[in-house]
Amino acid sequence: MSVITIDAMVVGAGVAGLYQLHRLREAGLTVTCVDAAPDIGGTWHWNCYPGARLDSPSYTYQYWFSEDLYNEWEWSERFAAQPEIKRYFKYVANKLDLWPDIALNTRIASAVWQEEQSVWHITSECGKTWHARYLISCMGMLSAPNAPLFPNQDAFTGTVLHTARWPQEGIDLSGKRVGVVGVGATGIQVIQTIAPDVEQLYVFQRTPQYAVKMNNHPLTEKDHEFWRSQYPTMRHSLHTTFGGFEWNVPEVGVAAAMTSEERLKVLEDCWQDGSLKVWVGTYPEVLADEAINAEASEFVRAKIRPRINDPAVADKLIPQHYGFGTYRVPLETNYYDAFNRENVHLVDVKAHPIEAFTPHGLMVDGQEYALDVLIFATGFDAGTGALSRLDIRGVNGQSLGELWQRDIRSTLGLQVHGFPNLFTVAGPLAPSTAFCNMTTCLQQQVDWITDAILFMRAQGKSQMEASAEKEEEWIKHHDEVAESTLLMSTNSWYTGANIEGKPRRLLSYVGGVGVYKDICEDVRANDFEGFHIS
Ligand code: NAP
Repeated sequence: MSVITIDAMVVGAGVAGLYQLHRLREAGLTVTCVDAAPDIGGTWHWNCYPGARLDSPSYTYQYWFSEDLYNEWEWSERFAAQPEIKRYFKYVANKLDLWPDIALNTRIASAVWQEEQSVWHITSECGKTWHARYLISCMGMLSAPNAPLFPNQDAFTGTVLHTARWPQEGIDLSGKRVGVVGVGATGIQVIQTIAPDVEQLYVFQRTPQYAVKMNNHPLTEKDHEFWRSQYPTMRHSLHTTFGGFEWNVPEVGVAAAMTSEERLKVLEDCWQDGSLKVWVGTYPEVLADEAINAEASEFVRAKIRPRINDPAVADKLIPQHYGFGTYRVPLETNYYDAFNRENVHLVDVKAHPIEAFTPHGLMVDGQEYALDVLIFATGFDAGTGALSRLDIRGVNGQSLGELWQRDIRSTLGLQVHGFPNLFTVAGPLAPSTAFCNMTTCLQQQVDWITDAILFMRAQGKSQMEASAEKEEEWIKHHDEVAESTLLMSTNSWYTGANIEGKPRRLLSYVGGVGVYKDICEDVRANDFEGFHIS
């Protein structure tokens, strides 16, 4: 097969990839956007499990570059469900006529930097090859599923599913004995949705969660009018907040100067909003000060306890050993109520881990749980997983996967030293890895990358690479901010603790979305200082 020459390859046709394709194509570059999936939507294509929905308010989870695009779309609910979100991305692809430059069912296998020509030699699993000057990963930070294979899985005669590879045609779970392993944001959505339909539901829980009540409701014409009126300010203001949402946190120090009653009042007001505001919209000390975090943790525990009838079950469902917000906070509607149902059973697999599959189910602590279907809601190899699973080789044949196996490094989460012209949207060590309303951060990163590429071209240059010094400087700053929080003390995907052997580093920059944007803007305004352009 002959090599296809293009200016840029965008890998991933989700939120970031579609926008990146649009921006570069608009600038006159030849671009191909590939995706392994048979459809666009990225995470919203793959994660079509029962109950999948946003936990960012729908109107804040969209593109901001076109007021027409914004005004011509109406969200039906405050927190939209997966099918509607996928429809939104198709609407955008149709409006912008993106389809001719999207290659679906195309999984990239390798990308090797060609020093002499300053291009990436890219190969797909089916043997297609490209030369692209710029390689932009838009594969998402949560796209490489983590499926722990318990021993003896082949012997299981039932069905095994992972939430991130849910069958597109759906699956009828009614009348079935179903097991769910994992109670993160995904497991919670699945459990509360399928509990009324299945015959028996066994929830295999290792670490309980501080889930927050979601206040979801249909949106009315009045709501649509309100959100349309917000467009001119919100498209800028979202980028200046701590979490990329429409709310912000006060300065550090404000919480310490308040009385406990005043802080609890703020928590209560935010709780009533029924959103992630109670996590990233109260005050920053919740994530940094042990006493203030303990107060918030107790506040949330007190909200959860009355929802659960059986005190012994409540004891297991309410976290005691880590602080509120240091593990990604999930939203829920009927999650805790599900455990009041007779057909729902909580199995604590912390003290007694799952041992193995049997032909008829799972074995825990010497007891067999008979199942027709086992659902892994076991998360992802976050941040680094998707790129590491490709064979990416930079200067001198250095492997990105091997580098990240030793040490998770990046510059602003946008480039990695030793990998010229490779740009990463939602790469590790940026807010977009976890601490952000995703559409806000992804668009900001795509805009920065587009500006970098156009700057290079305007200078008649062909490559850009983060310098070793800039990378060191960013990692030092990132780690200092991480160490000043309580996040490093909790085991979760945030720190890579969910993947055996993964180096421990906070995957997401937590200095705030607004702060991060200002840092990126400074670099850009100074002709991409710290990045070698040649
Ligand atoms: P996750 O937060 O990593 O949760 C995985 C769950 O599987 C945890 O409960 C984990 O227990 C459990 N687990 C993993 N291996 C296990 C094993 N061998 N035995 C028993 N339990 C095991 O993954 P997730 O729920 O898919 O969520 C990942 C992220 O996706 C979220 O944090 C969020 O950022 C995003 N998400 C967003 C939405 C939304 O916006 N609407 C919805 C879903 C997900 P431990 O905690 O003990 O490791």
